[in-house]
Amino acid sequence: MTKEPLCLMCTTDTETLIHMLFYCPHASCFWKASPLELNPSLIRGDNFQDLWQSILNILEAGAVEDELWSWLAIGLWQLWKIRNKKVFRDEETTIETTVEIFSERCLEWSKVMSIVRPLHGHLPAAGTLCSLSSAAIPDLPPAAT
Ligand SMILES: [Zn+2]
Repeated sequence: MTKEPLCLMCTTDTETLIHMLFYCPHASCFWKASPLELNPSLIRGDNFQDLWQSILNILEAGAVEDELWSWLAIGLWQLWKIRNKKVFRDEETTIETTVEIFSERCLEWSKVMSIVRPLHGHLPAAGTLCSLSSAAIPDLPPAAT
């Protein structure tokens, strides 16, 4: 029987994906201190899909829906990176720093989306980029010869 590894962030519980991303004290502090002010103790579910839906139900009222998905993903990605930094380089990252980086990434995402979102109706459908020639995009400079 294989024993699950111990979470290196808290060293008190087994490291599962759900523990590492939500219930580890490190993750829990991060979510509570983040601009989302998410309290993982309110999240319910036995699998990732149910947890995800539970989070959306908790946060749905106060956030812009399409940004919420992105901010949650950015938060999860941030926790994963902090965990890997600890596991592979034995480097600690404070909750404050984690929240600061998370906030910066969310702000960057929002800025990019404010530029990209108005273009959505003008972009080619997915999978068509490779078939476009420069003649199909009038604003492109002529190809170098
Ligand atoms: Zn832990």
